[in-house]
Amino acid sequence: MKAAVFRGGGRLAAEDWPRPAIGPEELLLRLRGCGLCGSDIAKFVAPSTKAPAVFGHELVGDVVEAGAAVHSFAAGDRVVAAHHVPCGACHYCARGSASMCRAFKASTLDPGGFAEYVRVPGVNVRHATFRVPDHVSDEAASFVEPLACCLRAMRRAPAAPGDVVVVAGLGSIGSLFVQLARRAGATVIGVDPIAARQELGRKLGAIAVAPDEAGEDVRARSAHRGADTVIVTGGGAPALPWAAQTLRDGGTVHYFAGGAGEALPLSLETLYQRELTITTTYSSSPGDLGEAFRLVTEGAIEVEALYSHRLPLDRLAEGIALMQSRTALKVYVTP
Ligand SMILES: [Zn+2]
Ligand SMILES: [Zn+2]
Repeated sequence: MKAAVFRGGGRLAAEDWPRPAIGPEELLLRLRGCGLCGSDIAKFVAPSTKAPAVFGHELVGDVVEAGAAVHSFAAGDRVVAAHHVPCGACHYCARGSASMCRAFKASTLDPGGFAEYVRVPGVNVRHATFRVPDHVSDEAASFVEPLACCLRAMRRAPAAPGDVVVVAGLGSIGSLFVQLARRAGATVIGVDPIAARQELGRKLGAIAVAPDEAGEDVRARSAHRGADTVIVTGGGAPALPWAAQTLRDGGTVHYFAGGAGEALPLSLETLYQRELTITTTYSSSPGDLGEAFRLVTEGAIEVEALYSHRLPLDRLAEGIALMQSRTALKVYVTP
């Protein structure tokens, strides 16, 4: 079968890869499509990423083979399957740190979503695979995983009616946060330098402005207190001092997207004197995936408008460049 194979040093090409064989509790999917995530791009550029590797975890596929012990899915089902599943029973899982569970990162799709065929391990089949109803498009279904990550973030940095929430970055992830914070009853101010992204943010219910205009809007909407929460989806560490300035005393910055910068560019004194909180989340839990699946199938969250480019597997490198230059809002990759 063909897969988009990362060979290290920024090299990525469609190559032959062995088609996975499945065990009795597993599924074999034929890929319908897979969203390209910022975390895939982070792996692509990180010098520490081991090669060869196949990225991709926001996938939709057709079941072509179900193991003998699988009773909940059968050949012909169209499904979304998440790549990480916690054990549900350990110290981490019992304390709400499901994505830090030691079993979590071990439960991966084989070889990854950017391949013609994908093996879904048994634990993923049991806890993180969903049959997609006919009325939901493949592209919409591919948003279940990123939406679940945003839901998890909103649990750690919750929004309430009357809050002012600033979403920094109005890419596809920022656009999901705008909608979730609006659903929670908050006033949302979306910040992005790109006019087309501000336009999209407005359509989704945000007051959308350029970064240098945000302070004024935040003050006007918050009786001059500052934002209750700033969600950083882009910009990396350099966005943090700006976020701290934008927050009210006692506010929270949620650092969602990793990025450049190894040290916190905020003084401890600022954090302490102003009682600021920094929260982070990595990935999602099966509960978040279930809720995201429900929201997508009910049409409660606009996702169709959030992918901008559709490319075949052998043009994945081009898709990465389109997202790096912020030309593409989101790339959807098909076999
Ligand atoms: Zn993702
Ligand atoms: Zn666990």
